[in-house]
Amino acid sequence: MAEGDKKRVVVAIDGPAGAGKSTIAKRLAERLGFTYIDTGAMYRAVALWALRQNIDPGDTHRMEQLAMAAEIELAPGRIRLNGEDVTEAIREPEVTSGASKAAVIPGVRRAMVAKQRAMGERSSVVMEGRDIGTVVFPGAEVKIFLDADPGERVRRRFQEAQGKGEPVSEDALAAQIAERDRRDRTRAEAPLAQAPDATYLDSTSLAIEEVEEAILRIVRARIANGKEFH
Ligand code: C5P
Repeated sequence: MAEGDKKRVVVAIDGPAGAGKSTIAKRLAERLGFTYIDTGAMYRAVALWALRQNIDPGDTHRMEQLAMAAEIELAPGRIRLNGEDVTEAIREPEVTSGASKAAVIPGVRRAMVAKQRAMGERSSVVMEGRDIGTVVFPGAEVKIFLDADPGERVRRRFQEAQGKGEPVSEDALAAQIAERDRRDRTRAEAPLAQAPDATYLDSTSLAIEEVEEAILRIVRARIANGKEFH
């Protein structure tokens, strides 16, 4: 089979903050030999640039222009914005909050969705975000909605922050996550929602390996008997 004839596969993983999407999506991509795409990192990159340029997130026109102009490259484990490695910078708390505000703007979303679709055309992908199965790739071969109890999601984020030595209280994290979830679920454009044909997975009491195996079973069942996907 010629290289160009191979079917590109999209595994879409959506869900709220702290449900385990990044951890799972990375591991799945490795197991499948697909490209891992963290779409949240793309919204974060736009927010970082806007913060540096002092652009008010309420200025939707300038935010859209910036999102269209942003050159975002995702390399394994790294993200570059206009040629600069911003992997660590996009994890700062003000960028996290800025990303969730930028993500409300329809023009910003249009620009990100166009970039994400182009990435999905280049290779098979495991793409994680909030709107992958509903908007970016409504025809994705595999769609997972990964969820967990709010308390558990906060606990995971707290442990992660402690592991990195970040000085943050569990209460402050809980408030931030609740606020981001509210914004993601209630925005007019592409709100966080489970696609009707997505499989719902609650990871609250599951080990990472169990979630990974459950999704791999779905991938194998759905895709050409496990053959010919690259
Ligand atoms: O996934 P992560 O927490 O890094 O995403 C940062 C923010 O980007 C989210 O709070 C959400 O508002 C936004 N986002 C989005 N659509 C996506 C991915 C992320 O709206 N596909």
